[in-house]
Amino acid sequence: MGNVQPWFILAMCVAGGITSIPMHMQYISTRGQTPPLSFEKTVMTGLAPDGGLLLPESIPDVSGALSQWRELPYTALAEQVMSRFFDMTPELQALISPSYATFRSPEVAPVVSWAGEPLHIMELFHGPTLAFKDVALQWLGNLFEHILEKHDSHLNIVGATSGDTGSAAIHGVRGKPRINIFIMHPKGRTSPVQELQMTTVLDENVFNLAIEGTFDDCQAIVKDMLADAQLHRRYSLGAVNSINWARVLAQVVYYFYGVFRVQERTAAATVDVTVPTGNFGDIFAGYVAMRMGLPIRRLVLAANDNNILERFFTTGEYRRGTVRPTLSPSMDIQIASNFERYLYYRSGCDAQKTAALMSEFAAGGSIRLDGGDPAFAAGSAGRDETLEAIRWMKQRFDYIPDPHTAVGIHVARQRLDPAIPMLCLATAHPAKFPDAIRQALGDVRPAHPLIDALEGLPVRCETLSAAAAEVRRYVIEHAQAGNR
Ligand SMILES: *Cc1c(COP(=O)(O)O)cnc(C)c1O
Repeated sequence: MGNVQPWFILAMCVAGGITSIPMHMQYISTRGQTPPLSFEKTVMTGLAPDGGLLLPESIPDVSGALSQWRELPYTALAEQVMSRFFDMTPELQALISPSYATFRSPEVAPVVSWAGEPLHIMELFHGPTLAFKDVALQWLGNLFEHILEKHDSHLNIVGATSGDTGSAAIHGVRGKPRINIFIMHPKGRTSPVQELQMTTVLDENVFNLAIEGTFDDCQAIVKDMLADAQLHRRYSLGAVNSINWARVLAQVVYYFYGVFRVQERTAAATVDVTVPTGNFGDIFAGYVAMRMGLPIRRLVLAANDNNILERFFTTGEYRRGTVRPTLSPSMDIQIASNFERYLYYRSGCDAQKTAALMSEFAAGGSIRLDGGDPAFAAGSAGRDETLEAIRWMKQRFDYIPDPHTAVGIHVARQRLDPAIPMLCLATAHPAKFPDAIRQALGDVRPAHPLIDALEGLPVRCETLSAAAAEVRRYVIEHAQAGNR
């Protein structure tokens, strides 16, 4: 252990932003006890062996490329952004277009604007499961398969979902012969539509597990399995949760795309971006884009009643609470797994300090950081405010946001600055959450053909207790053989 000296990581971090394109970008752990890994290893590993999360050794400064990137359609932009983080071989390049061909909008992430209005909405829900996670997971499925073919190996994906991750992951890898996928969801806590989007997938490589517990329980089981080096190696386990760097990277792309569109329409020099937040994955991608030189003035974090992150950004205290079910179930999270990546940067790229903070949090359930961060603002929306935001959008713009997006819109409205446009990320299609929409708007029922088609289909799902040992046994029994 201890292969990477803390001073070495610090030096690489300081160099970030000054360096040009590194030929072979290496990835390091937030906890500093893992030797640098290649991009391929990083994608296949998920969690670092020392329990930390993986990050590029430096974040490239792309300010000089922005004027050219503005002109690019989505997939060409994705190629450019991603190629700053790994060697873009022709084979890897060939994966990008097919990953976005499954989207129902040729723009992939269209931005909706209204003349003279400071509010803009980027629709990230045109993929096969109608939530923003498709943007990353359609690509990740293809990336996994490509790497597995190259090495003639197999993969068993284990993941936890509070709703949208699971279905997006399942749709990203269904039918891929080298992959089995085990997705745990908290039984009865995802919306009926979210559940059907997972359980109606009958491909042999897909295993849906309904866990009698919370999302955090599911996530703890996953972390436990991935942290067991022997199990990990023997069964060739992989993660698709937002801890996977490739997911963050795919999400960095649309921040560029969205900010460019808003700038075209408003001639604004900088843009504020509001992000409905659960695991801190999506908004962390925005933070990476910001550090790359994209002119985002401020990232506005929007939480529901599970507002541990709002409290952190307003008080400096990060304190664990209990999960409360809300109208926006994909944000019903108290321990945001990507937050550690932010802590690493916030600690001045000090892995030792990050590791110390994480163990302090694990032991006592809270940590405190002084000083605040001008890159972030934060707010939250309770039930009534979420419903009110849906009504406000409908009345004012004849536009129906899903309840996650509505949380963001409520928070964004409190933060509107007439001089700076506000881009709100729309993370799901409203038809995924008909109950919330009915509570807000009465008889209005937003429909989508992909969802109507789920009705009456056969389903496949196994119920298990929240005991890690039981889940582990199930996964071992149904796993594909590891590397051949
Ligand atoms: C996952 C999800 C979120 C939260 O995203 P994080 O990356 O976990 O912060 C918000 N809205 C919807 C619809 C989601 O599926």
